[in-house]
Amino acid sequence: MEYKNYIKIVEDWPKEGVQFKDITPLMDNGKAFKSAVDEIVDYARAKDIDIIVGPEARGFIIGCPVSYALEIGFAPVRKEGKLPREVIKVDYGLEYGKNVLTIHKDAIKPGQRVLITDDLLATGGTIEATIKLVEELGGIVAGCAFLIELSYLNGREKLNGYDVLTLMQY
Ligand code: IMP
Repeated sequence: MEYKNYIKIVEDWPKEGVQFKDITPLMDNGKAFKSAVDEIVDYARAKDIDIIVGPEARGFIIGCPVSYALEIGFAPVRKEGKLPREVIKVDYGLEYGKNVLTIHKDAIKPGQRVLITDDLLATGGTIEATIKLVEELGGIVAGCAFLIELSYLNGREKLNGYDVLTLMQY
């Protein structure tokens, strides 16, 4: 399927100079959304995944239907202060300032094979931080799946040694 037909490029959003890739038209089309999710389901099945982990908020949109299809769990990664029980956290740099991501301490059992999902791989900072959380809990990152990869930002370099699936590249 030509998924790019369902991505809208929004110029200068959220700030000038950024070409935002809006995935909502793809989500809006049942067949396109299902086809994209099915590709990630097949990937997860081949990698023998035990649990999906996704950063808020669009990582949930991609990861939850995959976990539903495979009847495996989904563990959310959220910004600081959002998860109600004991968490571990990681800081990661943003263009301006820093961000903190957290995961519940008991979300992953040591040795579990984890698939990390998000809508888009840009610089790779978000996924690198998510990998740190998973590995600190003893999880094995068996794969990372995204709808979109912005190749010109070289996020894959941060994911050296990890298996990465992307359905569209810009
Ligand atoms: P990274 O940490 O630089 O790889 O940025 C990836 C994160 O930023 C993901 O969680 C995305 O949801 C979000 N993001 C960055 N650019 C875009 C975009 O153009 N469309 C949708 N999400 C984006």
